[in-house]
Amino acid sequence: MRNVVLLIVPIIVLLGLTGSSYADEAVEQPVIKLTGAMTSGALVVGKTDPANSVSLNGEQLTVSAEGIVVFGFDRDATGTQQLTLTQANGEQLTRQLNLIPREYKIDRVEGVPQRTVTPDPKQVARARKEAAAVWQARQIFSQRHDFLTPVIEPAQGRISGVYGSQRIFNGEPRNPHFGLDVAAPTGTPVKVVWPGQVVFAADDLFYSGGTIIVEHGHGVTTTYIHLSRVDVEVGDELEQGAVIGAIGATGRATGPHLDWRVNWRNVRLDPALVLEHF
Ligand SMILES: [Zn+2]
Repeated sequence: MRNVVLLIVPIIVLLGLTGSSYADEAVEQPVIKLTGAMTSGALVVGKTDPANSVSLNGEQLTVSAEGIVVFGFDRDATGTQQLTLTQANGEQLTRQLNLIPREYKIDRVEGVPQRTVTPDPKQVARARKEAAAVWQARQIFSQRHDFLTPVIEPAQGRISGVYGSQRIFNGEPRNPHFGLDVAAPTGTPVKVVWPGQVVFAADDLFYSGGTIIVEHGHGVTTTYIHLSRVDVEVGDELEQGAVIGAIGATGRATGPHLDWRVNWRNVRLDPALVLEHF
């Protein structure tokens, strides 16, 4: 994991205006400051004048009263992304963000309970219902910005799975893995990585077992799964580092580990890039 992350170039990008309005100034004024990696799976946070409007590939983003704007690139995002900033005076600035390509590993996992690899129709229906509830929870979009607090790790342990890897369960190809897995004994405390508010909590979902989702603002959520214990409820306001549950092996898991995830709305992001850059 470390290798992948280290290849990714620096992260603070200043988009400066080169137009005539700043021509006489000694130092070019940055109009938006971006934090995050320019690669697939990255969370990016921008800071700009709240009077500016910002769009990514033509899609308008929410600029908060503090001038915070958030976006992210999904696992398979490649090539050039277009960030456009419009100032109050109508002046427009467009920058091409060139994503650095990355490769994902292929992960063969044996010994997964077969009922979770090829579930029967009743279980498929259950899992679908649960996925809809999770999807709904991730639609919450608040103007908080907890992600400006330097992130912490949710648990200590061996990294046993990384973001993006192609999963082959008991020889059968399945969806890529979107979390960062931390292997540690059942009962190891799990902490919330930023302050936030609980938007989903369930004891035992079919695939993810004990599951907690916390919103941190602008549709940025972190998800904690396979928990043996869920200590929080929807609506709970959390301080950073609060213990929210404990590591387990519930749902589709071969052994006790925390699988934690980062989303921007429905875009699944790489937690390792968040640890590296936030
Ligand atoms: Zn996992």
